[in-house]
Amino acid sequence: MTDTRSVVVIGGGIAGIQAASELSDMGFHVYLLEKEPAIGGRMARLNRIFTTNESAIALLEPKMRTLAARENVELITYVEIVAVKGSVGDFEITIEHKPRYVDANKCTGCRRCMEVCPVEQPNRFNEGFGTLKAIYIPYAHAVPSCAVIDIESCLRSGGEECDACINACEYNAIDFTQARHKHNSKSKSKLKAGAIIVATGSATYDPEPGHDYGYGLLDDVITTMEFERLTAPDGPTGGNLIRPSDCREPMRVGFINCVGSRDINRNPYCSGGVCCMENIKNAILLKEKRPDVRCYIFYIDIRAAFRGYEAFYTRARELGIRFIRGRPSEVIENEKGNLEIRVEDTLKGMVRTIEVEMVVLGTGSVPGEDIERLSEMLKLPLTTEDGLFRELHSRVAPVDTEQRGIFIAGAVAGPKDIALAVAQGSSAAARAASTLLTLNA
Ligand SMILES: Cc1cc2nc3c(=O)[nH]c(=O)nc-3n(C[C@H](O)[C@H](O)[C@H](O)COP(=O)(O)OP(=O)(O)OC[C@H]3O[C@@H](n4cnc5c(N)ncnc54)[C@H](O)[C@@H]3O)c2cc1C
Ligand code: SF4
Ligand code: SF4
Repeated sequence: MTDTRSVVVIGGGIAGIQAASELSDMGFHVYLLEKEPAIGGRMARLNRIFTTNESAIALLEPKMRTLAARENVELITYVEIVAVKGSVGDFEITIEHKPRYVDANKCTGCRRCMEVCPVEQPNRFNEGFGTLKAIYIPYAHAVPSCAVIDIESCLRSGGEECDACINACEYNAIDFTQARHKHNSKSKSKLKAGAIIVATGSATYDPEPGHDYGYGLLDDVITTMEFERLTAPDGPTGGNLIRPSDCREPMRVGFINCVGSRDINRNPYCSGGVCCMENIKNAILLKEKRPDVRCYIFYIDIRAAFRGYEAFYTRARELGIRFIRGRPSEVIENEKGNLEIRVEDTLKGMVRTIEVEMVVLGTGSVPGEDIERLSEMLKLPLTTEDGLFRELHSRVAPVDTEQRGIFIAGAVAGPKDIALAVAQGSSAAARAASTLLTLNA
């Protein structure tokens, strides 16, 4: 049966949140599906955002809370999309609810269970820094603010007896019976919708397998995402940047651009200038907080293409951040426990060795882990250039796809910054609405 009043948005990052908000404003019923226990995506884990350097979570949290409070929006978190059938005006999306082991209708987010849980594991929301209990709420401002149990690390999985969270919860929210529903029909639901917006974002290049610039071998070589968490006020260090090796504040930091990007042996494409700006932003923030820190940015060329980017780059140079043109060949540890970056400075025409105390790798954007599965399910082709979803036309139909009624928005449709992800979220919402209104006519 045709349903022209409901839209499914897959992915609860900033692009999906924007699309869902716009559709809700237009009176559509929106199902926002998120695979993680909370929405927010990448932006929820950033410290501050270029080019305004405002707090990411301060901008995002009101949007998330407003969305969650809307009557015509259903936030369905911790789910997997398992099948998509039908066509424009009549899609059927089958989702599987992953067990939280916590009754979301009863949990108030009081966190008492987390205080008593004896299990500590690396905090994946902080890129492995700090710890997370087996029962946790993903991050401080999470929406929904509802606990979830990582059953694999829970003592009960190993056959041990533990009732600590059950006893601590005044609201009777812990529910280990949810395990029985996993992979049976009770954990599945079917949603009907007239249109689908895919906003599942992207992942970042992993320098660990190839130990790029010693990553994974040298403790003080970190990624930009790790830098974000190590400088965020809600991160593991309360916002103080310290070296993982000895917990000292680094006095000389090297930022390397284009790691895993613009490299025919890895990914030939550019991550849209986002990594250039990430490193410039983080160097500016560090320099503004601690003017005595020396910051070096190693670049091939700076891609400052969008509004405000060039001024941001100028501001960095005015602050005394040093830009060295050249792709470093290696990073090694010296006898003092510091790091040496070897680079051919192509402006000075000489090979240089710069000693720093921390190296930050500006890792590029790569396709998310389940994009191929989604591509098959939704019958949406991926580009050969970057492995992300292909738009119907890159210039004149950037959020439409070959499947009428299915739209794409945000980083899943090519690397982009937050402003563009928001613009595409709005655009995809408008295209979904106009398509459904045309069906009605
Ligand atoms: C280290 C770093 C720093 C950055 N700094 C800045 C900055 O300062 N300023 C700026 O403008 N931009 C910045 N960016 C870029 C910015 O993060 C992205 O533009 C933005 O997050 C893209 O939003 P999105 O909604 O498209 O994707 P995401 O934020 O990645 O959200 C996608 C969502 O979809 C969910 N999802 C994925 N697969 C599925 C599935 N199969 N089913 C259901 N849900 C799924 C994910 O869990 C996630 O919640 C930075 C990026 C990085 C990596
Ligand atoms: S499960 Fe219970 S104790 Fe834990 S956060 Fe929810 S309401 Fe609080
Ligand atoms: S039952 Fe599991 S989640 Fe609950 S307190 Fe014990 S170890 Fe933690």
